[in-house]
This record gives sequence, structure tokens and C-alpha cells, in this order.
Amino acid sequence: MPNFICVQCGTQFDDRTTAPTGCVICQDIRQYVRWEGQAWATLEDLEKTHSARLEFDFGLLGIESRPNFAIGQRALLVPDRDGNILWDCIALLDDAIIDRIRASGGLAAIAISHCHYYTTMVAWSEAFGDVPIYLHENNRKWVQRHDRRIEYWSGEALMLTPSSTLHRVPGHYSGGTIMRWAGGADGKGALLSGDMLQVTQDRRFVSFMYSYPNMIPVSAATARQIGDILEPLDFDRVYGAFWNRVIASDAKDATRKSVARYIEAVIQ
Ligand SMILES: [Zn+2]
Ligand SMILES: [Zn+2]
Repeated sequence: MPNFICVQCGTQFDDRTTAPTGCVICQDIRQYVRWEGQAWATLEDLEKTHSARLEFDFGLLGIESRPNFAIGQRALLVPDRDGNILWDCIALLDDAIIDRIRASGGLAAIAISHCHYYTTMVAWSEAFGDVPIYLHENNRKWVQRHDRRIEYWSGEALMLTPSSTLHRVPGHYSGGTIMRWAGGADGKGALLSGDMLQVTQDRRFVSFMYSYPNMIPVSAATARQIGDILEPLDFDRVYGAFWNRVIASDAKDATRKSVARYIEAVIQ
């Protein structure tokens, strides 16, 4: 039985004989159903219509599909000393991706910021030796392909390895997750933020939204809370959700200024 994939958000569902009637992630007010109506594909379809872009993005191997699929997700391969961690995920998983990651040492774990990147995570886990997929417990209800390889974590932080720690960041989703990797930015530390912190177009600031496509901002209190979470973390770079959306250096200072700027904008 096929595991259908939502064409709008890239989420793969539990196997079933007929396509689901709708995608709860897209029907939520933070996302949208495509204007042409709900549509479905399978991983086999994607392998015929899309190919992999595998290039370095500020020192990390980025993985994307060409042409863009769903919301244009990009995954990053983080070469942690204890094994590669796949940060975020994309729907496409073809031989080019599998061969490249295997040649780079395979995967030790998958960690995902939130449901807009769950995509075909279970297929990725299977392809790389049943590696664990770390998701925050608060986002469990958004998982559409249930699997024993998913490890739900709860609380505010989870140390994956001595150099990589997941932190819960509220705002976009209550189980929103970022990862701090000590080995990033030549040892100064990097944050992989998904769109919990959205790197802005000028790549000098981040911003925070409950919904990006529907433009629903977070409250000043939530922005302050995010600032408090970032304050104790050491990092010099932020890898945002999309290709090249990176604050390459002095990112800690940039996020401090971003929180202050955001609060000032929404309380007046
Ligand atoms: Zn969807
Ligand atoms: Zn999102």
C-alpha cells in the first residue's frame, strides 16, 4: 500500500489503499491548501520528476530537490564527531542522496525542527539503518507517518551528543526545535534554526512568526522567551530554513538585536 505524500507540504502519511481526504498540516491556519486543491504524490513519483541538489551551504552539505517541491525544504548534513546528524528533512530521497550520504559516513540520527520538515523522515531512517528520528513531544499530533524509530523528547533541551543539543523554541509550533552544534562556524558554534528563527532577506536579522505564509506574528512575550532561550547558548552562525538563508557570523549579536527590534515593533 502506498504512503501518500501531500504535494503542498511534503508530508508522507501512513500506508493506505486510497489517498487521505486532506492534510491536517495544510488545513491548519499556519499553512494553506494549494489553490488548485489538495494533491498527492508518492516517493516513486518524486524520483521520476525531481532530482537532488547536493551542494555545500556555508560549510554544510545542503540537500534540496530540483525543481523545488512542497515548501522548498532544505536539509543539512551536520558532521558531528559522534556521527552525521541530518538536520531537517526533505521529501525526495533518491539514489544520488543515499550514495552521497553513505560516502560521507551515513547517518547516526535525524533531528527535525517541526512538522513542515517531517516529509519522508521514516523512509530516510529506513534507508540509513533505522537511525532514530528526534521530534519534540509537543508536536506528536502532527506526525502523519507513525513509526517505532521516532523518539519523542520532552522538556526544554535534549543533548544528542556532547556537541549537539536540541532546544525547544516556542512561537511557530509549541514543539519547535532548534539545534546548537558546537562544531559549527569553525568551532565558534552554530544554530540550525529551521523557521523557529527565520533568517530575514538581508541575512542580518531573524524574525518570528506563528504563520509565515499567512503572516501571523508571535507576541512580544514569546519573542522575549525566545531571546531568553538563546542567551545562554554560544554561537556565531545561524543556518535558517532555506538555502543561503544564513547569518554567517556575529549571529548571537544579530539575534539579540532581532529580539529587541521585534518587541519594539509589536508593542507600539
Ligand atoms: Zn500538507
Ligand atoms: Zn514552518
